[in-house]
Amino acid sequence: NRQQKNIRSCLRDLGGSHLKPRFGRFLLRLGQETSLEKVCSRLARVPGIAVFSPCLSTSADLDSVKEAMDTVLKPLLEKGKEPEHFAIVSRRANKELPFTSTEANGIIGKYVQEKTGWKVRLKKPELPLYLFFVNKDCFLALDRVRGQGGLPTGTTGKVACLLSGGIDSPVSSARIMKRGADAVFIHFHSHPHTTLASQEKVRELAERIVPPGHRVRLYMVPFAPTQNRIITECPARLRVILYRRYMVRAAEAIARKEGAHALVTGDSLGQVASQTLENLHTINSVATLPILRPLVGMHKAEIIRDAQQLGSFETSIEPHDDCCSYLMPPKPATRSNPQQLDAAEEALDTEEEIRELVENSSIEIIEGYRG
Ligand code: ATP
Ligand code: MG
Repeated sequence: NRQQKNIRSCLRDLGGSHLKPRFGRFLLRLGQETSLEKVCSRLARVPGIAVFSPCLSTSADLDSVKEAMDTVLKPLLEKGKEPEHFAIVSRRANKELPFTSTEANGIIGKYVQEKTGWKVRLKKPELPLYLFFVNKDCFLALDRVRGQGGLPTGTTGKVACLLSGGIDSPVSSARIMKRGADAVFIHFHSHPHTTLASQEKVRELAERIVPPGHRVRLYMVPFAPTQNRIITECPARLRVILYRRYMVRAAEAIARKEGAHALVTGDSLGQVASQTLENLHTINSVATLPILRPLVGMHKAEIIRDAQQLGSFETSIEPHDDCCSYLMPPKPATRSNPQQLDAAEEALDTEEEIRELVENSSIEIIEGYRG
């Protein structure tokens, strides 16, 4: 039911389509005016769809199938993209038809062979031509497109994703959303030390992560006042870890308000000073919700490949000023422990800092990119 709702809202603005569940699949009939290309590019970004096939539909008698097959074959013959070999692969959802799948394969296969002169090969044909017989209809698949897989959005609970303007956090958020999680996004900015353009960049990244037709809330948290106090009151080498601990605390407060059950970050083990095991431990020790790190074991090259697929990479690499590069210490600590940080934080009124961060944040609605 959830997936049905998700697909409907993903395609709502394209109009005229009709979706219904049939035999353990969804059957989507496109309206006259609906662009097949747009529908395919959107469905490919809906979590929970493993595979889909654009089809031509006709009635389930073999003469109609032959006629429809002419339409399927036409572009293949024109383009000169003729396959070495082909096979007809029939599947019947209902067994009341007056022919078996094997008989359909034989009759339609022979027809295609006569029309084209192509060779038949049943094992691993270059061109499998699928026929799906469902009640009184037959669907001729024009293609087989791999979707995202995963689970439908909204079926596994809600997470709070810490979204920077970098490459990693958009990928980490998308990975968790692919597992069916709904999300709230949280971005810490250092305006006026950082530009408004860097906030715009985060909005753009967020749109790429959210599945089409879905909406999430984005919290923009003004982090500069807290950073200023960290800079003046605390040891410079602990600065970035302190930033992170305050981010985690504020994110957790927002997560509770939003009914999210975990935080998500784009940390990858050992990538930068704040991502050593010691420092991850020090950062974790202020959290009570789990912190999910889907990229922890991934290499940068793998993360970049995912970012390219997601469509976030080009935006992520635009030059921008990140809140954490604001007054970066020359020698950030690669090792730390919670006691050390607890001591450093005695100079600050932590409860008051978090209250202020949450209270001063603004909330925006992000709609998934429709493309
Ligand atoms: P990214 O590419 O995601 O920026 P990174 O490799 O630059 O990651 P860090 O800057 O150390 O690593 O950040 C680690 C994680 O902390 C990020 O992936 C993100 O989840 C969170 N984070 C960092 N900066 C911010 C920020 N300004 N707002 C929200 N979350 C942030
Ligand atoms: Mg970063």
